[in-house]
Amino acid sequence: MNGLMMQQPLLISSLLVHAERHHGEQEVVSRRVEGDIHRTTYRELAARSRRVANALARLGVKSGERVATLAWNGYRHLEIYYAASGSGAVLHTLNPRLHADQVTYIAGHAEDVALFFDLTFLPLVEAVASRLTTVRNFVALTDRAHMPAASKIANLLCYEELIEAENDRFTWPSFDENQASSLCYTSGTTGNPKGVLYSHRSTLLHTFGIALPDSLDCSARDTILPVVPMFHVNAWGLPYAACMTGSKLVFPGPGLDGKSLFDLFESEGVTLSAGVPTVWQGLLAYVDAHGLKFSTMRRTVIGGSACPPAMMKAFQERFDVQVLHAWGMTEMSPVGTVAALKRKQIGASAEARFAIQAKQGRTVYGVDMKIVGADGKELPWNGETSGELMVRGPWVISHYFKNEGGDPLVEDAEGHGWFPTGDVATIDADGFMQITDRSKDVIKSGGEWIGSIDLENIAMAHPGVAMAACIAAEHRKWDERPLLIVVKRPGAEVTREELLGFYEGRIAKWWTPDDIVFVESIPLGATGKMLKNRLRDQYGKYLLEKT
Ligand code: ADP
Repeated sequence: MNGLMMQQPLLISSLLVHAERHHGEQEVVSRRVEGDIHRTTYRELAARSRRVANALARLGVKSGERVATLAWNGYRHLEIYYAASGSGAVLHTLNPRLHADQVTYIAGHAEDVALFFDLTFLPLVEAVASRLTTVRNFVALTDRAHMPAASKIANLLCYEELIEAENDRFTWPSFDENQASSLCYTSGTTGNPKGVLYSHRSTLLHTFGIALPDSLDCSARDTILPVVPMFHVNAWGLPYAACMTGSKLVFPGPGLDGKSLFDLFESEGVTLSAGVPTVWQGLLAYVDAHGLKFSTMRRTVIGGSACPPAMMKAFQERFDVQVLHAWGMTEMSPVGTVAALKRKQIGASAEARFAIQAKQGRTVYGVDMKIVGADGKELPWNGETSGELMVRGPWVISHYFKNEGGDPLVEDAEGHGWFPTGDVATIDADGFMQITDRSKDVIKSGGEWIGSIDLENIAMAHPGVAMAACIAAEHRKWDERPLLIVVKRPGAEVTREELLGFYEGRIAKWWTPDDIVFVESIPLGATGKMLKNRLRDQYGKYLLEKT
């Protein structure tokens, strides 16, 4: 017997309809590429999104076709988010930090039919336009006054002109909630990037999941500023969660330096933010250097790579900003776990609570996880045993776009498919997961694993260290040994001996890095993560050469 409740597909357009009807006056504030601060409301944003949907129809974009963006976080980008997915097309957020050849590959693989881009990226678009053979329309996200006088792109359209000509009446179509809504490519640090194709259903369920109090904790009383780009796994879902909960949204546009972010946090009363550790480093350095305090910011989500405990301490103890350490992947929409305390942990000592928070956390309802050994058997949750982390759930990938790479899932005895994350982790008895490494970054010394993240976290706790990466370097006797690559803080004096000594008592002696290389900078990838493969190419034989 079926239940007798309304059958309504879970569609992305419903989030915008809800925000307009119930939070119409709520503000959306953006720092624009043009340099000014722009203010709008969900009511206006919804009306403009309907114009964009009409414009997409006029451009001949059909259901299921991919509409690409190369854009910062901003209200126009948000309009396209809703217009493209809402009208049945697929939003494809391209990462402008990728090399032109990769952008070309990805846009070609996705068969994007239209490309909407911020003026910042005009040189990139001009460089690749002739190779984007599937793209029928190029649209610059600006008004007539700011359009480039001359462009190599034939028939370049102006976004404001395009939508000005349209009606703001548009009925969002209803369709199967399993229809594709958006597409993100993994960074492809090894091999070509692969597409992860989300559905309306997976996006809506993920939105419910991340808005929960023990998750990213979004509400109608919040002002959310996603520093994480809308081209990095849909800004971790915050543009959807903000509409679902009616939060005020603040978009930083191209201003991701410490000063620009801090100014916006203060002027707009931001309460919740989110981003990768490297971006917070710039912000903390600025705030420290100028003796500032956050007057409204209460929580920040840090994920994408491990949040060094020293950074967490700085936020919480010096600035009274709670860190929500989160873990996820493009293949998981992306949120999988958040380190929110359980009831029984509230009374624990500050140090004990801190140790729990430094883990990547427990799963949000909707995601299940387990760790397995080399034989595929599930390993115990004792906080000690580590194995490959596997996940399953309604917002976890089943196949890559165009079946690239074949079937990624591994079946268990009951026939359930699990997605192997490529991360190595422990899970404790309370269900808190801790990543020790990515499997490709693990250091295998004499057959034993050494977790590079632990070694990096210790180095980061030293006041003279700005950034640290630990890599596996080839070793004659032990096959691999840890080698630490360090960027010093400006003006700091720290020696190799001092830093190696810093490990004493903090870690098993045999885990201590064999050597330290001081460098000017560590290469970062398109999503702000340290490119350890690049470091391995450069320093992988360092220990062989030294002996
Ligand atoms: P890519 O970096 O390949 O583009 P993602 O952005 O999807 O892909 O990154 C997913 C990976 O990032 C995870 O598999 C994990 O290795 C790493 N990661 C994400 N969050 C954390 C975290 N909080 N701590 C440690 N590693 C993390």
